Formats: sequence, structure tokens, C-alpha cells
Amino acid sequence: MKLILASNNAHKLREFRELFRTLNVELLSQGEAGIHVDPEETGETFAENAFIKAEAVMKASGLPAIADDSGLCVDALGGAPGVHSARYTGNHNDSDVDRYEKVLREMRGVTDRSARFVCSLCCVFPNGDTLRTEAAMEGVILDGPRGENGFGYDPIFQALGYDRSNSELSMEEKNAISHRGKALQKMKEEWEKYHADK
Ligand code: IMP
Repeated sequence: MKLILASNNAHKLREFRELFRTLNVELLSQGEAGIHVDPEETGETFAENAFIKAEAVMKASGLPAIADDSGLCVDALGGAPGVHSARYTGNHNDSDVDRYEKVLREMRGVTDRSARFVCSLCCVFPNGDTLRTEAAMEGVILDGPRGENGFGYDPIFQALGYDRSNSELSMEEKNAISHRGKALQKMKEEWEKYHADK
């Protein structure tokens, strides 16, 4: 069965392909499928945005589509950056460093450092059926950036039970505990259950 990933991000495509490798699924990126839609992410939750992206690609292609939406939620900031993680400074030309420095500034002197990365996944089928999963990685916001690996807010986040930032973990270490890794694993189980019930 063909499944379209509502993204052209090569890193995401590799991660999703790895997971669906053992299933009878041919996973294509939007570009590979010739689909050029870029819906506005107007949802107030990660789950709403994942659904918006997956549904737009399903409608444009007539094929099942899967999308993810993710971000960093900091308790002391009322859940921000949240669904605005990718554009937290408000300027698309700003870098990951600009965005995590904004969080560090807002967290200066704050004692409650608790935070989590959240990932929502949504798979939409042409008959309207949907599969949804969500997972989180709990941790704390550090006082300053550490490490070179990863992307986004990884340098300023340390997962619970670890003494290294996400950017100091190898990709394998991070994938094993990450919000995206866990949401993908749950999606694999939902996918298998859905097709076994058919
Ligand atoms: P999207 O899910 O592609 O819309 O991106 C969400 C944004 O959240 C990214 O641009 C990053 O800033 C942030 N983010 C999501 N997952 C991670 C992660 O695993 N590490 C660091 N930042 C992340």
C-alpha cells in the first residue's frame, strides 16, 4: 500500500521509512508523489495541525497520508513555544539559535525548569478513517546550550534521567527515548491493529 508523508523533510522521511520498513507500505514524500500543498497550520494543538496536514495531502492525492506536528512545551512559559515552536521569534529568517536563545532569555532566573517535547501523528485514509498517536519526552530547560548534535531546541533540553543535553546524545540514543520515536512506535501498533481488523 502507498502512504504519503505530508512533508519533504529528508530526516523525517528516513525516520518514518525505517519504522514502516517491516510493514507492507511504500512510503513516499510529498515531492515523490508530486503533491504540492502547504496548508496553513491553524490548529491550537499538535493533534489538530497533524490532522490538517495529513488531510490536505490525502485530499490532493486520493491516497492515505500521514503527518506529524511537534514542538517544545515549557511549563513556566504556559506551554510555549508549543505549536509555535518552529516560528517562535515570529521571523521565518531567524535560526534555531535565535529561537532557543529567546527561550533561554525568558527562562533566566526561573526555578521551575520542567518542559517536554511533544509529537502528534495523524494518518488519514481516503474513506475518512483516522489513526492518531501522541507521545512526549519529559525533561528540563538548561541554563545554556550544550552539544552539537540534533536540531531545534535540542541544545537547551535535557531529558529526565540523563546528565547530557539532547544535543550531547547520539541519534540512536535520542530516537530511543524521543517524543517522535515513541509516537511512531505507537503508530506502527495502531496501523497493524487497523489492518488486522479489516
Ligand atoms: P514541525 O513539527 O516540523 O512543525 O516542527 C516543530 C518545531 O519544534 C521544530 O522546528 C523544532 O524547533 C521543534 N522540535 C520538534 N522536535 C524537536 C526535537 O526533537 N528536537 C529539537 N527541537 C524539536
